[in-house]
Amino acid sequence: MPFANLIAGAWVEGDGSENINPSDTGDVIGLYSRASAGQVGDAIDAAETALHAWARTTPQFRAEILEKVGLEIAARKEELADLLAREEGKTLAEATGEVMRASQIFRFFAGEAVRIPGEKLDSARPGVQIEITREPVGVVGLITPWNFPIAIPAWKIAPALAYGNTVVFKPADLVPGSAWALAEIIKRAGIPEGVFNLVMGRGSVVGEEIIKSPKVDAVSFTGSVSTGQHILQTVAARGGKVQMEMGGKNPLVVLNDADLDVAARVALDGAFFSTGQRCTASSRLIVEEGIHDRFVSRLAEMLRDQVVDDARKPGTTIGPVVDQRQLDQDLRYIEIGRKEGAKLLHGGERLNREKQGFYLAPALFTEADNQMQICREEIFGPVATVIRARDYEEALHIANDTPFGLSSGICTTSLSKAADFRRNSEAGMVMVNLPTAGVDYFVPFGGRKASSYGSREQGRYAVEFYTSVKTSYVAP
Ligand code: NAD
Repeated sequence: MPFANLIAGAWVEGDGSENINPSDTGDVIGLYSRASAGQVGDAIDAAETALHAWARTTPQFRAEILEKVGLEIAARKEELADLLAREEGKTLAEATGEVMRASQIFRFFAGEAVRIPGEKLDSARPGVQIEITREPVGVVGLITPWNFPIAIPAWKIAPALAYGNTVVFKPADLVPGSAWALAEIIKRAGIPEGVFNLVMGRGSVVGEEIIKSPKVDAVSFTGSVSTGQHILQTVAARGGKVQMEMGGKNPLVVLNDADLDVAARVALDGAFFSTGQRCTASSRLIVEEGIHDRFVSRLAEMLRDQVVDDARKPGTTIGPVVDQRQLDQDLRYIEIGRKEGAKLLHGGERLNREKQGFYLAPALFTEADNQMQICREEIFGPVATVIRARDYEEALHIANDTPFGLSSGICTTSLSKAADFRRNSEAGMVMVNLPTAGVDYFVPFGGRKASSYGSREQGRYAVEFYTSVKTSYVAP
C-alpha cells in the first residue's frame, strides 16, 4: 500500500512511486502516491472550503497546533533524521540539524500566531481613527525542492498556518518521505480537515494544477530558476501573489589577511557539505593573490580527508549526490570545466562504495575565470571553482559579477574590508568569516537578482507574504 496524499482530512491513495535511497539504490524506502490532477483539484477545493472557519480561529488555537507539531518533530528527531538522510543523502548529522530546524520553525511561528502586528493612527480628519490590520491571503500553494525535504516545507507551512491561511503542499517528487511524515504529524496535532493538504507527485501534473488554479490565491516556491520563472509567469498572469527562492552562484572572497585555517574550513563547509546541494553553497571561491597558493593547498589537503560514503554510516562527511540525473549534471559540468581550461585539482570522478550509490569525489577547480560556464551557472553539486583576484576591489567586482544574488561571504581580519563587503555585496545574505550556507531560523532568508522574487521568507518578515494588509477608517 503506498503512502497516501492528505486531502480534506482523509488519506487518499494514488499511483505509487518508489522512493529510492541514493546511498544504496537497492533500498526502496517506500511507495508514495502520486496525486492525479483531479485529486489536486479536490485538495484545492478542500482548502477553499476550510478557509473561512480557519481564518477566524483564535491565534491561540493555531499557536497550540503549531507548538504540538514543533514538539513532536523534536521528540522524534532521530527517526526523522534517519529517514531524511536515507531519502536525500545528506549525512545524519546534517539531517539531524535540518530536522531540529523544522521543529524550531514551527515553535517560532506558534509564537508569531499570537502577535500578528497591526497599527492604529489618528486620521487627518478630526475624530476619525485608522486601523491597519493583517488578514490571511487565502488558499496558498506551497511547492518545495528536494534538497531540504523537511526544513523548507516547514518554513512555508508554519507561517502559512500561523497567519490563518489554508494550504495545498506539494513536495519534490524525489523526497516524499519527510513530507509525508510531516503531514502525518500535522494531522495528528489536530489540524481541522481541509486546512492542510498534502499532494505528492510530479511538477508537470501536481505543480501545474496548483499554479493554474484561480482558487489558489498565493504560491510560495523554492526550486530552480527555470521552474520559478514559469511559475511566476503563470501565477502573476492570473493575478495571484508569488514568492520565489531560486538558485545561487554564491561567492566566498578570501583576502590575504584572512586566517588560513578559518578560510579553508569555511570554504570546505560552504562548498562541499550537504554534497554541495545547497542554494547557498559557496561555489565560487575568489581568492586574493597573496594567499591563493596556501589557501588552495590547505583546502585540497582537507578535501583528501573527506569521507564520501553512505549518508547514514558513522564517519561519513559527504553523502552521495541525490540521484542519477543530478549526478549526470555534475559530471557534465566537470567536463565543461575541463574543456574551458580550468584545472581540476581534486576529485570529480565517480566513486564506488560497498553499496551501489551516486557517489562523487568533491571536485575543486583552480585557475578558473569568472566568465566560464562553470562560474556562471548553478551546478548544484560538490563542485567549486577557485578564481584569482589581484586585490579586494577586483574580488568584490567578481563576487557581484553574476546573475544571482542569494548569499555571499568574505574571510578577512580587516574590519573595514568586512564592513565594505557587507555594504557593497549584491546578495540578500552576507557572511563574514562564516560559510555562505547555514542560517538562523528566526531571521529573513532570501536573495536578490535572479535568486529571488517577492518578499522574504522566515522570521517576522514572513508576515508580508502570508497576509494581506487592510486599512480601516472609523468615524465616531
Ligand atoms: P525544481 O525547480 O526542479 O523543482 C522544485 C519544485 O517545483 C518541485 O517540487 C517540482 O516538482 C516543482 N515543479 C517542477 N515543475 C513544475 C511546474 N511546471 N509547475 C509547478 N511546479 C513544478 O528544483 P529542484 O531540482 O527540486 O531543486 C533544486 C533547485 O532549488 C536549485 O536550483 C536550488 O538552488 C534551488 N533551491 C533554492 C533555495 C532558495 O531558498 N533559494 C533553497 C533550496 C533549493
